[in-house]
Amino acid sequence: MTPDHRVHVVPWLRRIGGQMLLPNWLAITIGRVIVSWRPLDEAELSHELAHVRQWDRFGVLFIPRYTRASWRAVQAGGDWYRDNAFEVAARAAASVRAAESAASAAARVAAVSAEAGHPGA
Ligand SMILES: [Zn+2]
Repeated sequence: MTPDHRVHVVPWLRRIGGQMLLPNWLAITIGRVIVSWRPLDEAELSHELAHVRQWDRFGVLFIPRYTRASWRAVQAGGDWYRDNAFEVAARAAASVRAAESAASAAARVAAVSAEAGHPGA
């Protein structure tokens, strides 16, 4: 189920976020507010919605928990962002959503092929 959320697209934040967050940042989620510098595709939104769920679960304690997860990632020889457990979970949610989209697109193609009299591959 999709959690309550709001998305704000603020193009001029691209440069500032690149300096303050990550050079190639796209979006940040604070509570149920998602801020991005361009519209998000389905998988990108799924990633941010995973963070909304994390915020729903931990409240403001999400911040120290996220920080601790980054610290642990670095201690383990990883990257503070990429290997952060909250980011790993969000990427997993996004790839599940991308797989669902691909499967439903394939089902639509098969349905159209069947209507046209061509059995789906
Ligand atoms: Zn993320």
